[in-house]
Amino acid sequence: MKKLAIIILLFIAGLYSFAQNDYYFGRDNQFDPKIPTPEQFFGFPIGSSLARYDKVVEYYKLLDNLSDRAQLEVIGKTYENREQVVLIVTSPDNQKNLESIRQNHLKLIDPKSSSSNNDQKVIVHLGYNVHGGEIAGTEAAILAAYYFVASTNNETIKNLEQAVVLIDPALNPDGRDRAASYFNTFKSFPPVSDPNDIEHAGGFTPHRGNHFWTDLNRDWFPLVHVESKARVDFYHKWYPNIYADYHEMGSNSAYYFEPSPPRSTWNPTIPEETYNVLNPILAKYYSESLDKIGSLYYTKEDFDNISPIYGSTYPDFQGGVGTTLEVGSSAGIEIETEVGVRKFSRNIKDNVVTSIAAIKAAVAEKDVLFKHQKDFFSSALSLANKRADKYIVFGDKNDNNLTKLFLDHLLSHKIDVYELPDKFSQNGKDFEPGNAYVVPFSQPQYRILNAVFEENTTFVDSIFMDITAWSTVHGYGIPFVKVKGAVRQGQKVTDIPQIKKGGVSQKSDYAYIFNYTDYFASKSLYYLLDKGVVVKAAYKDFSASVAGTEYKFNKGAIVIPVEYQNISSDQLYNIVKEAAELTNIKILGVATGFSTTGIDLGSNNIRRVEKPVVATLVGSGINWTDVGETWFLLGNRLNIPLTKINVASADWADLNRYTSIILSDGNYNSLSPNFIGKLQQWVANGGTLITSEGASKWAIDNKIVTGFVPDSVPRSKNEYKRLDYISQRENEGPQRIGGAIFNADLDITNPLAFGIVSRETYAIKTSNYKLPRPKSNYATVLQLTDKPQISGFLTKKNQQELKNAPLVVFENKGKGTVVLFAESPTFRGYWLSSGRILTNAIFFGSNLSSPGRYRP
Ligand SMILES: [Zn+2]
Repeated sequence: MKKLAIIILLFIAGLYSFAQNDYYFGRDNQFDPKIPTPEQFFGFPIGSSLARYDKVVEYYKLLDNLSDRAQLEVIGKTYENREQVVLIVTSPDNQKNLESIRQNHLKLIDPKSSSSNNDQKVIVHLGYNVHGGEIAGTEAAILAAYYFVASTNNETIKNLEQAVVLIDPALNPDGRDRAASYFNTFKSFPPVSDPNDIEHAGGFTPHRGNHFWTDLNRDWFPLVHVESKARVDFYHKWYPNIYADYHEMGSNSAYYFEPSPPRSTWNPTIPEETYNVLNPILAKYYSESLDKIGSLYYTKEDFDNISPIYGSTYPDFQGGVGTTLEVGSSAGIEIETEVGVRKFSRNIKDNVVTSIAAIKAAVAEKDVLFKHQKDFFSSALSLANKRADKYIVFGDKNDNNLTKLFLDHLLSHKIDVYELPDKFSQNGKDFEPGNAYVVPFSQPQYRILNAVFEENTTFVDSIFMDITAWSTVHGYGIPFVKVKGAVRQGQKVTDIPQIKKGGVSQKSDYAYIFNYTDYFASKSLYYLLDKGVVVKAAYKDFSASVAGTEYKFNKGAIVIPVEYQNISSDQLYNIVKEAAELTNIKILGVATGFSTTGIDLGSNNIRRVEKPVVATLVGSGINWTDVGETWFLLGNRLNIPLTKINVASADWADLNRYTSIILSDGNYNSLSPNFIGKLQQWVANGGTLITSEGASKWAIDNKIVTGFVPDSVPRSKNEYKRLDYISQRENEGPQRIGGAIFNADLDITNPLAFGIVSRETYAIKTSNYKLPRPKSNYATVLQLTDKPQISGFLTKKNQQELKNAPLVVFENKGKGTVVLFAESPTFRGYWLSSGRILTNAIFFGSNLSSPGRYRP
């Protein structure tokens, strides 16, 4: 009896599920009944609630178990320990030969290989929900997976014989689950479509980013985060012909897909065919699928394809075609819009039909796609050969870890890199074997290589969606030269070489020293301080002879005396050794404090470093991505804890436990006069306050710092000039600084520049905010040069205004210091060079002096 009841229940559930199949896939679709429908598996109609990410993975695992069409691959793990997965769906025969299909496909990207296109399978990658709150992505991924695995339609079966479909249900699993949990928490019964309801307002933390609130749809190229690294690794296993990236935008918007606006938003190194043939081909299939279900859409008006930072553009740099698909957001289960109630389920349906359309397009147009991919990689060589310069040499002889990080970055993009066999010098830059590499421009990955080192200031348009200068080499701040003549290449680098293992030269009863030039020296420094070791830093250069070898130590070199420690010399040796091994740096044990040149180890110019205790404010009005960048830099890269205080409860926080407080870009007007007074007192007592962009302006406006010259540039009279309404965007848009890269001059004599040996550096500006000039002649740590622009779009007016603009300045207040940045100190996590100034402010900010308060 019980059994019968279950059968009847399953039958009823089945009927209902098939009704849901009708809604999402139309009435003329047939499905294999052995494969549970999403509704049967999840226990609710898809679109009536949000699926938990772990259940999505479980469903995909079930599809892998039940079907010979599906195979699940775990490609990585997020910061919050969620598995990143891709479901690979193709015909059962193709599944059996998957590796040979893949190998065969890789011939298309090898200009030397003469493959036939006839035996190729077309590779389609569907990527959903890169922005956590853009929720109709993952649900569409559930239904698309079910459709491709269970559909018994002839057309689908035939298409799967020709295509390998890679389904990534959430490019940002942590953000997706944060959003799913939020929307499910505030879901109402029945649904509330009133836009004022908290369900539609978004949470305390933004849904968009990953764990560190980073926009992963800007990380395909910088590859700072684990999710992107895993994804791009997987991407390079398959080089998809089509990559579809699913998004959402404002609730009033109709569906959007490419082509993007002609030419002005195209990247000039990418074959125009990508934009004017491939995107229109896809558009044809997308539009037909949406016409059929009565959904409105638009094309050609929005979004740019100019840089490789996005999911929809990175594929264009890999011989595929990337495509953005955007649906107006339902911001939960349903929401009122200008044209009526927008439903989550309807958004999912729009995404499902375009997902199916992408496969149809791929199979029908596969010859065009194969030819494009083949030509793309051969034309890379001819494009490179037209250049005057032939090679790049890069590497930092003072910085093993930075060199290794950058090498890793290049290898992640499958760029061919070779060892440098001989010493090489150009433009006053010296490169040494072991710490430098050669990269020929002439190689299949020329286009992405060019992007890494790009210095371009010519643009067709003047209004852009995001940054107009994306080169990562300037962000890493690694020395490089572009070479016109010949450079001898050594062995090809296939893996990150194990850099010289760190360690201590010998146990000492006197002192240990290490240079602060290595990128991870600050990580070792914090490790030592955290273990309670008494550590000092040198404020002047010196050199010392250690076991017969002469070593030069730059400002910032770390000195650890054996005397004054609270631990035995054996214990100290062990901790110092751990600090060296942690970051692969070399620490020297010395037997004498007598230096061969410069200051001795007992000098007053070698001063104690206190262990930093760092806090920041988070919450309403504060720029989450900037906070995330700092959180990632300190926590993830350097192992320094960062306390995040809710700005709403800042009034009650005891600031005295912190040595440094960081205020990221944002609006701080909600802070009470009481808090401002408390913060001023804390600075006066010796705290280091570090502000950037909006917070810098706030600190100046609230007289927390006062030593600035009022803006001396006379503002031109705002004469009334009548202009046409429609010209607003064209006139005003170009003045916005969307992200350009500049030459900058760093005062390397300032302790905030400890560890950096070259004055010549780079900076990115992503905002129009300008720091005023400080009254003190010694307070500008970093400023743009008088010919600053290297890359990116800038109007003549902005070019003029940014000449010699200060970017980092400091001011002493009482016993404390305020360090002001014009920009986020570590933009998107890959601006490592300016990030070092932030780290130095945390360690050495309290020892900055001005003429009125002389310190070494
Ligand atoms: Zn998006």
